[in-house]
Order: sequence, then structure tokens, then C-alpha cells
Amino acid sequence: MMKVTSGFAMPRDLVALGSSLKQVGPIKEIICQIGSALIYECSEQLVDMRELVDLIGRALVDEPPLRLTDGHIFRDGFYPALDELRSITKNGREWIARYQNQIRDEYGIKTLKVGFNKIFGYYIEVSRGQAHLMPDIFQRRQTLVNNERFISPELKEYEGKVLTAQDRMEMMESDLFQKLRLKVAESAEQVCQIARSLATIDTLSSLAEIARAHDYVRPIVDESDKLEIIEGRHPIVEHSLPKEQFIPNDTGLDGEKEQLMLITGPNMAGKSTYIRQVAMIVILAQMGAFIPARKSHIGIIDKIFTRIGASDDLSRGQSTFMVEMSETANILNNATSRSLVILDEIGRGTSTYDGVAIAWAVAEYLLKTDGRQAKTLFATHYFELTGLEKMIKGAVNYHAAVKEWNDEIIFLHKIDRGAADRSYGIHVARLAGLPTPVITRARQILGELEQDGGRKSSKRKVLQAVEKQLLLFES
Ligand code: ATP
Repeated sequence: MMKVTSGFAMPRDLVALGSSLKQVGPIKEIICQIGSALIYECSEQLVDMRELVDLIGRALVDEPPLRLTDGHIFRDGFYPALDELRSITKNGREWIARYQNQIRDEYGIKTLKVGFNKIFGYYIEVSRGQAHLMPDIFQRRQTLVNNERFISPELKEYEGKVLTAQDRMEMMESDLFQKLRLKVAESAEQVCQIARSLATIDTLSSLAEIARAHDYVRPIVDESDKLEIIEGRHPIVEHSLPKEQFIPNDTGLDGEKEQLMLITGPNMAGKSTYIRQVAMIVILAQMGAFIPARKSHIGIIDKIFTRIGASDDLSRGQSTFMVEMSETANILNNATSRSLVILDEIGRGTSTYDGVAIAWAVAEYLLKTDGRQAKTLFATHYFELTGLEKMIKGAVNYHAAVKEWNDEIIFLHKIDRGAADRSYGIHVARLAGLPTPVITRARQILGELEQDGGRKSSKRKVLQAVEKQLLLFES
């Protein structure tokens, strides 16, 4: 409609609009049968545009050319004056065809034909070898490498008629089309109202279709302080896996006993998927959609904050860590006790000690500060943070479960109560294709670090483990 009202719409745009508007009636008939107030409201907005659809249908050919100047946009019979001009040009062309045959036979010039170009108009063309057969009544106009071109008074006369009619026809079509476009523009408001209403119907029907196809349920949404999801699923990851392979998980947060879930566990175990799925389920529930879960009770959330993924904004002078901290600052300064906060790692872009310290302080702030006690899902590899559970009410440890089997680990993708104590990072690095010497070396260093237990600082532990290994290699 923007193109229509600003005068840019081309014939094909109007044909497309007409065919879309044609569907409005049948859609209205179908949705009228649905007993829903919202749908009823939408159907009321679907005003009858039959007149406009008829006008476009009567006026324009089914597949008009791209440009106005290409002609034959309007149907025969729509506008008598246009039909008349069309017949003049058609007859003119027929006359020219007859004329060509007639002079070819009369003078016995087999190569003779009548052609047209924009500079010279219509001309009679014969090969150079036969040009001497042309009588004097034809005037020579142009000499080409192989051909000679001539004109005759009769041909010029018909050319005049045809070209004038052609020009007038173009002008008439363009004029008529502008009038039609203005007429359509008069309905701009109703068409936009129909478009908005169809967009709502489209959204609702898509959500309904997905809900039915993928066993979504209707959540309870109220003013309570609950965030309870039984057997929740990630609406997208679920479909990227083979059928039945997605493992559903529960969530049970309230503003008190369980306010901040600290989720530890191996890389690749499903922590990110889980915390994102909770956020998506809340959004779906609050927008009035069914959700991918077995059951759910969601108290209204005022805002959802996320800190996920590492990216930098170097063009604006922000390093990866700076972006991470800015996002965290935004969360801590704006979250309320009715918010949902999703933190996928914090403090990873700096040294281990700085990172743990910041992550710890962030969790503590969200747990202890009045008015900022947002429901929080905090995925981390800093196992140190699991100590929070014993120290602050509201912090609860969860982990993404795995099973060790021979030398392998199996990801169960189940989020269970309690803390994890290992990340299996080297295992995942091997899966990702790091060279074997690197994996072997990493295992040696890790073995040393683990033997020393928690007695020394991480830095000393790493250095000592490496030194010990070096000696081993040298000996
Ligand atoms: P990292 O700590 O390395 O970021 P992560 O624990 O956050 O890892 P995800 O990225 O959430 O792990 O999940 C890794 C992959 O595991 C996903 O791409 C998905 O294929 C699979 N996965 C995650 N959750 C589930 C689930 N509930 N059921 C089945 N497969 C899952």
C-alpha cells in the first residue's frame, strides 16, 4: 500500500494485491466459525473489498508486463477508446505484412522484407545483390554491408498511423493506470486494517498449529511468584534432533527457597540449551501461546535479561570482556525481583581469579539485594560457586548429568539437583579434533593438578605440574 499511495506501484503489484484481497472473504468465512473473542475481533476487521477486487480483475490482464511502457496492461473490453487504438495498430501491422508480400511478388525479389527500428522507423530491406531490381519509386535510405534499405510513400503513411496510434495507446494506458492506482489508494486504510488483522490471524493460527503438532500445553500464567515447568523442552533444539531424542527437564523456581539455580556440568551437557529453553517458555507463555512442556505455572515476569555468548564490538572500542561486563552491569542495574535472568557463564574473558571473584559477587548481589532478587539461571564452569548454596538462602546447585563408561562419557542431558565436580573439557576438545599430542599433554597436566588437590593456588599448581612433566620428559 505504501507503493500504491506514493505512486510507485506497478501493474503487477495491483494484480498481486487483488489476488490477496480475493482470499479475505473465504478466510473470514472459516474463522467466523471459531468461538474465540480475539479471532472474532480480527474477523470483524476483515471488511469486504469485493468491489476493489472486481475492479482490478476487470481492468488488468492476469500477467501484466513489468513496466508501464511495455503496454497491454489492460484487458480488451475494459476501455473502448483503448480497444480502438489497439485495432488500428493491429490492422496497420497486418497491412504492412500484406504490403511486404505484395511487393516481393510484384518485383520478384525473394530477399525483400519489411523491418522496423527506432531510428528509421519502417523500411524495406533487400540484399545488395538484388537491390538493382528495386524500381525508382522506392527511395534508398541506408546501405549496410549486405543489405540496402528503402522506403516508400505508402509505407511512410502507414507508419505514421501505426506509430501515432501506438504513442496514444501508451499514453492512454499510463493515464488509465494512474487513475486505477489512485482509486486503489482510496482504500489504503481498509487494506492496512485487513493486513494487520490477517497478520494476527496468521500468528495465532501458526502458534495453534505448532502447539497441536508438537504437543504443547496451555500454561497457567498468574501473578504468583512461581516459575514451575514440568518436562520443559527447547522449542528449536528439540526439532534439530532425531525424534524422541530431546530430554525434557523440569524447573522449579520461586522468589525464596529456590531463587538462583547454579548449573554446573560438563561442556556439551546441555546447560545452555536448558537455560535458554526456560526463557523461551516464559516468553511463549506470556505472549499467550501454548508451550513445549507437560505442565507449567508461570508468575508474570517483568523483564528477561540474558548474558549469553562471547562477542566483541571492536568497532565501538569494546573488547569481548568489556561487552560481557557491560551486559552484566545492565542486568544488575535494571533487574527486579520479578525479572528472569539468564547467565551463560560470567567472568570467562579474564583471569581465573578475577573471573571467579566477579561471578561470585554477581550471584551474591542477585541473591541478597532487596529489589534485585531476580529468578536466575546461572550456568558456569566455576565449581567454586557451588559453595554459595550452603552460604546464602535461595542459591541451589544443579548439574547437567553425565555417565562415565569405559573411557567415554555419555551426556544424559538431564538437569539434576546437586553440583558437578568436573567439566570433561579435554574429552570435548578431543571430540572437536584437537591434535592427539595436545590432548595427551593436557591430560598429563590435568592429572598433576588433580593429584595436588586444592592445597595450592591454581597458578602454582599449573606451573608445578608442567615443571614436573618437563623433568619427566627430559629424564
Ligand atoms: P558448554 O558448557 O560447552 O557451553 P553446554 O552444557 O551449554 O556446553 P549445550 O550447548 O546446551 O551444552 O548443548 C550441547 C548439545 O547437546 C546441543 O547442541 C544439543 O544437540 C544437545 N542437547 C542439549 N540439551 C539437550 C537435551 N535436553 N536433550 C537432548 N540433547 C540435548
